[in-house]
Amino acid sequence: MVDVRGVHKSYGPLEVLRGIDLTVRTGEVTVILGPSGSGKSTLLRTINHLERVNSGWISVDGDLIGYRRSRGRLYELKEKEVLRQRTRIGFVFQNFNLFPHLTVLENLVEAPVSALRRPRHEAEATARRLLGRVGLSDKAEAYPRQLSGGQQQRVAIARALALEPKVLLFDEPTSALDPELVGEVLDVIKDLARAGTTMIVVTHEIGFAREVADTVVFMDGGAVVEQGPPTAVLDDPSHPRTRAFLSKAV
Ligand code: ATP
Ligand code: MG
Repeated sequence: MVDVRGVHKSYGPLEVLRGIDLTVRTGEVTVILGPSGSGKSTLLRTINHLERVNSGWISVDGDLIGYRRSRGRLYELKEKEVLRQRTRIGFVFQNFNLFPHLTVLENLVEAPVSALRRPRHEAEATARRLLGRVGLSDKAEAYPRQLSGGQQQRVAIARALALEPKVLLFDEPTSALDPELVGEVLDVIKDLARAGTTMIVVTHEIGFAREVADTVVFMDGGAVVEQGPPTAVLDDPSHPRTRAFLSKAV
């Protein structure tokens, strides 16, 4: 479903991604761990083309991200085409990023209507179903500021799902939350995993990774140091840097 091949990304002289290879199969959950500054967010941002890569390529569901291949050559996509690709890649941020001036329901309806041209009544029906799925049916008419952080993040997840993404990307979805609100958000992500949603989750929640991940990827210094099933990477890491990171994390 998601293929990342030989991706390099630099900011000026700073090489942030140093040749990343990653494969995420349909229906699988990949959890990315790694110290601050290791390039986790940058990697997620390249997958939905919020950042351009310097070399290498990324494909999602067979679509080359940001480019079109024609007669053996690569052509950069126009902004409109990039936006269309991005609608199929859900992104959930640390800080929710809900539209503050829109109700919860309107937050979920906006993109399907404007980007996918769904009829409003259809988008609303989908939105209410998704709010039920994240346990917030009673909050449809509320504004984001009236919700707890955990509730806002569940709305953000429902909003991402409203675009029927091929893959959902999460960048530390619980790290802005008070500890007692972390569980309700992780529970929603676990439900999605059980339902077979393809996801890439950057998180520091090791217990969650152990429970939900099909593959755990440990990044350091812009490279994938180690990857494999959670039992291997978390319980029996082969690389000293992974061991050092995990010993500090727990
Ligand atoms: P954290 O766990 O703190 O979120 P991260 O693994 O997500 O860290 P990134 O945010 O991907 O790390 O950043 C990797 C490196 O790239 C850091 O050194 C960061 O300072 C640098 N960086 C990120 N974005 C930019 C930018 N827009 N311009 C310049 N440097 C950047
Ligand atoms: Mg980050």
